[in-house]
This record gives sequence, structure tokens and C-alpha cells, in this order.
Amino acid sequence: MLIGVLCLQGAFIEHIRILNALGAETVEIRQKRDLNGKNFDGLIIPGGESTVIGKLLRELDMESDIRSMIEQGTPVYGTCAGLILLARSIANDPNVYLGTMDIVAKRNAYGRQLGSFACEAEMNGIGKIPMTFIRAPYIESVGSKAEILAVVDGKTVAARQGAQLVTAFHPELTDDTRVHEYFLGMIKKRGKNKK
Ligand code: GLN
Repeated sequence: MLIGVLCLQGAFIEHIRILNALGAETVEIRQKRDLNGKNFDGLIIPGGESTVIGKLLRELDMESDIRSMIEQGTPVYGTCAGLILLARSIANDPNVYLGTMDIVAKRNAYGRQLGSFACEAEMNGIGKIPMTFIRAPYIESVGSKAEILAVVDGKTVAARQGAQLVTAFHPELTDDTRVHEYFLGMIKKRGKNKK
């Protein structure tokens, strides 16, 4: 299984470590040519700063390529800033980046005091997992095409729409690999359905 990890800024190394430990092969996507000639089974859009990653995606001319891969059904997992980049719109920011997922994200949604925190909560299809939030967004609203997977303090923090998965938290910063296993499971199931 070959997973392309967007490595423009932010917490990408941690995703690569977990994916490799789970037996998936990874390719670092740093420039447009890293997308060429590969048949990615899945993509990771990591956390970091959505404005920086979004700007680089455009400057490096990768935004529309990645958007079409997702629209054509390549499974994608976005954490934190990755969630913001995949959102159809951002409640408190006029920018739209990849915009492939029917959710409205709110950036830096927990304010300064609660910007970063950790907790344990239930994620549908997985169970109780540790969740690490860092200047995190939450999902302000979920459109009819998307499904809520986790709620913390009344706020949606994980969702799925077909082959697109997003979490406002960072499982790659914990040693619990179940969200990545869930994502790899989504890819495997999709492979079977394709046949
Ligand atoms: N605050 C960041 C943003 O708005 C997201 C933080 C993160 O990815 N940990 O892009």
C-alpha cells in the first residue's frame, strides 16, 4: 500500500512513522513532480498551519492535482490543518483550499486558553482513543454528505465522507495507532469494492 504524505509544513514525519510501522509504504509529497507516475492508495494532509500549507499548495501548483485525486476517489486523511484544507468552507476565514469535504471548519476554534488540550473520547468505528488538540479547529457544521465520527464537549472533532476522513486532533502525536489503522482499513475496503 502506497500513501502519499503532504510534506510542505507541519507534523508530517509523525504520520510517516506510524504508517511505516503499520506496514504501509510512504512517499513524501514536496513538489508537483512527486505526484507524477505514482498510483497512490491514499493521501495524508497533516496538521500545521493551514494558511502556510494552503499557500504553498497553490504556489507549487499542486492544489488542483490533489483536489482531482480526491474527487476521483483517492482516500484522504486530514488532521487538524488538514481538516481545514479539506473543508468546503471555513467559518472564520474567507479562504477555501481543497474544499472537497462537505463540512464547515472553524479555525483556532477553542480560543487561546483552551487552544491545546488532551482528552480521551469515543470515535465511531474505533472506540475510546486519546485525542491531542493543538490550536485546533472543530467542525462547525457537517453537510448531508458527511457523517460525524466523534464529538467532544458538544463539538464535532472527527468526520467522514466516503473515502475522506478528518480529525481536529492529532493521533500521530500519541502512540495509539488505531485511527491510522482505521484509515488503512478504509483504503482496503475501497480496493475490494473497486474490483
Ligand atoms: N491553528 C492551525 C490552523 O489554523 C491548525 C493547528 C494544527 O494543525 N495543529 O491552521
